[in-house]
Order: sequence, then structure tokens, then C-alpha cells
Amino acid sequence: MAAEILRPLSINEVTDWADTADVVIIGYGCAGAAAALTAHEQGASVILLEMLSGGGGSSAMSGGEMYLGGGTPTQRACGFDDTPEAMAEYLIGALGPNAPEDKIRLYAQDSLEHYDWLTGYGVPFKPSFYDEPSWVPPTDDGLMWLGENAAPFSSITPMAPRGHRVQSDGFGGKVLMQHLMAAVEATEVRVQNDSRAVRLILDGDRVAGVVVRSFGENRAIRANKGVIITTGGFIDNPRMVEQHAPQMIGVGTNSDGNDNGSGILLGQSVGAGVRRMSAGQIGIAFVPAFMTRGIVVNWQGQRIINEDVYPGRVGQTALYEHDLEVWVILDEQAFEEVSDDLSWGARPHHVAETVEELEELCGFPAGSLRDTIAFYNEHAARGEDPLFGKSARWLRPLTAPFGAMNVRNSFAESPEKARNDQAGPKGSAAGVFTIGGLHTTVDGEVCDLVGEPIPGLYAAGRASSGLHGWGYVSGTSLGDGTYFGRRAGRAAAG
Ligand SMILES: Cc1cc2nc3c(=O)[nH]c(=O)nc-3n(C[C@H](O)[C@H](O)[C@H](O)COP(=O)(O)OP(=O)(O)OC[C@H]3O[C@@H](n4cnc5c(N)ncnc54)[C@H](O)[C@@H]3O)c2cc1C
Repeated sequence: MAAEILRPLSINEVTDWADTADVVIIGYGCAGAAAALTAHEQGASVILLEMLSGGGGSSAMSGGEMYLGGGTPTQRACGFDDTPEAMAEYLIGALGPNAPEDKIRLYAQDSLEHYDWLTGYGVPFKPSFYDEPSWVPPTDDGLMWLGENAAPFSSITPMAPRGHRVQSDGFGGKVLMQHLMAAVEATEVRVQNDSRAVRLILDGDRVAGVVVRSFGENRAIRANKGVIITTGGFIDNPRMVEQHAPQMIGVGTNSDGNDNGSGILLGQSVGAGVRRMSAGQIGIAFVPAFMTRGIVVNWQGQRIINEDVYPGRVGQTALYEHDLEVWVILDEQAFEEVSDDLSWGARPHHVAETVEELEELCGFPAGSLRDTIAFYNEHAARGEDPLFGKSARWLRPLTAPFGAMNVRNSFAESPEKARNDQAGPKGSAAGVFTIGGLHTTVDGEVCDLVGEPIPGLYAAGRASSGLHGWGYVSGTSLGDGTYFGRRAGRAAAG
């Protein structure tokens, strides 16, 4: 990325404005689409810039899981009660520590209205419940648990499933974006593809426009009211990962390949502050249904977490505390219980008739896994997990023969294939994306290094730091991207 991105242009240097709108939005993923629709609803003229030849971004590739609650029609149809307060309490815990309470409380309070806004644009949620641990349902069911029913949250916040998956025959992100983009294209919002924002334009301390490069030529676009940055995260920018998120170096990425961090750099070029830049969603390459039925251990043969939590929480623990040296241990019954559509073809890398033999195959210290399984089994037989509080639903003594899956070999058929497939030193053991970004107010105003809004500059989606402290739960990216995209669109248009 050229260094010019870090040098804003003074308005005095602009000789010719190629275009003008009240609100100029950079990046056409879910946050950009939501911002554009809302700014337009407010009566503003809008230009929506996209560097590629079409919109969609990572949003269109995503699972389509949206974190919504407070008693949505989908929740009620599936027989679940919920309140905004319960939703906020869960998110404050699960997205913490130090998740921004002001953003979370607004997000929860407005969740029903946001559900209506989405469905008003035709985004479908099937009123049926999928009751298995998974990243997204392999069915077209519309509702699932995302860790609300697992310790420690199950005992400290009222439980309700809030994972709303956009109805689809696979990942739902493409359906979400089809609907949002169809809505944008039915308005007078001017979408300009092949238009990469390369510099901001400053009028004094106010952001007044954007320099855009299209087919090798630069154009200046004036924003009368505001510029909104919705360019996604920075996992595809190795220099920024190196600078801010060292534990993600060498780990597989989870993006459309264009999470280039350019919007964050544009914001920083005019003095923006950033938050939570080292935090990430760690999509560990374990099958959640296997993890939940077995145990997850480190290289010392010791359990690391209650395996029924939201799988990204297992991923964070595995990466940040165990450098992805983790295994799933399961028995034959656990393996057989998981259907093919949930197991994604994953097979144990080692099987053994005895736990001692498995220890040796995996390279665990002698006796370590034996003691772990003995302790686990003794309490599982009574429906208890004194170490981590795993739900009794998933507790059962594990019996020989045993299997072990190594996350670093992930889904490869053999360790050799895994080595050949490796995206980095840690291979495809996890797919990660960043959740930190520009520091914003609840209305998407981008704040400077002392926390004051920068006039004329807004951000939403993964270019900003949204609902998250350190933790992550599926659905909070598409959820906060669209919700705070709307708020930014409204504020900029106003
Ligand atoms: C496989 C996968 C599954 C996922 N599943 C889920 C899920 O189920 N639920 C969930 O909440 N999240 C999920 N995520 C994460 C989620 O998709 C993203 O965090 C979210 O889509 C980010 O939205 P956004 O609008 O901020 O950015 P994006 O959707 O990435 O859009 C940003 C756009 O900006 C454009 N752009 C970038 N730089 C510039 C520039 N300088 N000028 C002009 N345009 C630019 C990009 O080309 C892109 O089109 C998943 C991600 C992946 C990859």
C-alpha cells in the first residue's frame, strides 16, 4: 500500500472536484450498505465507493450469523423468551473484558428494531431452531446457541439463543448482501466500483472528501457532510498485523483477502485513535460437535476450557494461551454421534486402544492424559465438571478406544498433507480476523487520540472498534457492522 495514504490532502490543493455528495462512504460490505441506505433514508445524497468491481466484501463470504435478541419473532417462534437486558449482560461478559457497555446496551436495546429493519429489506430468518454446537447450522435453520447456555454465562445471565443465521442453503452472508445490495441499488445512492480511496481531504481540521484512484487515475470527491469508512479489518495487511497483533502472525486468515486495513490508515492519517487492535476472532479448525462431546487438551495432556462454549472462545484460549498446541480427544461413541454434515470430513489423526498408547502417539508426558481422563470421567459420571463447568448435557465418561485430532493438522488427511497445505508456521490450525479498529462514538464519529470526534469523519464495521473488548461471539460483526453502519449513516447525513 502506497505511503500516500498516510498524507491527507489539503482542500487548497484540490484543483478539480470530480464528484460531490452529502455523504461519501468508503467500502461496500454490510456496514457500507447499511450506512448508505440510512444516509439515503435521511434525505442525503450518497456516493458509495468500492475498490473492487462489485460490492460484498467479507460480508458476502460470511456465515450470515447475526447476533440479535431481546425477543425477536424468530426467538419467540422457537419458544424462547428474551430481553434486551439479558442480551446486554451476556455480551458485556462474552465480549469482555472491557467491552464498551454504552455500545452494547444500545445495540441490545435496539435489537428488535434492527431485526425489523433487516427483515424489512427482505433478509430472511427461518423460525426454526438448530440445537447442536456448530459454527453455522448445516441446515437452513434460523436460530442457534452461541455460548449463552455454557459456563460461566449460563449461571450469571438469563439464557436465550441469539444466533440468527440468514436463511440459506449454506453460508448466509451472500444472501444478506444480495438483499442489502438490491435495496441500495433501488435507491439513488451512486455506487462507484473500481474506486479505491487512497487519501482523505482536509478542510482545516474537518474531513471534506476523499481522493479515489480508478484505473490508474486519481479523482477528488467532495463530501459536504461526512465521510464514512467501512473498509473492513486489517488481517490481510501483514505490516499492521506485525505492528498490532503479533499472536496472529503466521496463522491462517479468515477474510475475502481484502481486509487491507486501508480505512484504519486513512483514519490514522488525520489523527484518529484506534482500539483493541490486538484482539481477534480465532476460528479454530476443530469441529465444534467433536469438541463438545470430547475434551480439548494442550500438549501436556491437560484440559484447557469447557468445550461447550462458543467455539471462538476455545480458539482464543488455544491461540493466546497455548500457541495452538491443542488436541481434541474423543471416543468412538462421540465420533459416531456426529453426522457427516457436521464433521466436515475430519478424522482422528491417531487412534489407540489405551490412553497410555494415545499419550505416546501424541507426545504427551506419560501419565498426563491418563490422569486428565480419569478425573474427567469420575466427575462426568455424576454429570459434573468441577474444573470448567461444562454442561451436564455433554458430560459422559470417555471409554477406549480413543481418538485424537491435532489442530495443526486440522482437516488434512495426513500430517504430510497438512505441512504442504500450511499457510504459515501454524498452518491452517485457525482462521482469524481482526476485531479492533478506529475508535468511534456510538454514532460512528471517529475520535482522535484524546477522544474528541474528528469533524466530518465516521466509521463502522470491522474498520472500527465496535462491540468488542477482547472477546468475540459469532454474529457480532455482521450485527454491529449493520447496526453501527446505520447509526453512522444517520449521524453523517444529519
Ligand atoms: C468465511 C467467513 C465467515 C464469517 N462468518 C461470520 C458470521 O457468520 N457472522 C459475523 O458476524 N461475521 C462473520 N464473519 C466476519 C464478517 O464477515 C466481517 O467481519 C464483516 O463482514 C465485516 O464487514 P464490513 O462491512 O466491515 O467489511 P467488508 O464486508 O469486508 O467490506 C469492506 C469493503 O471495503 C472494500 N475496501 C477496502 N478498502 C477499500 C478502499 N481503500 N477503498 C474502497 N473500498 C475498499 C473491500 O473491497 C470490501 O468490499 C465471517 C468472515 C468470513 C471471512
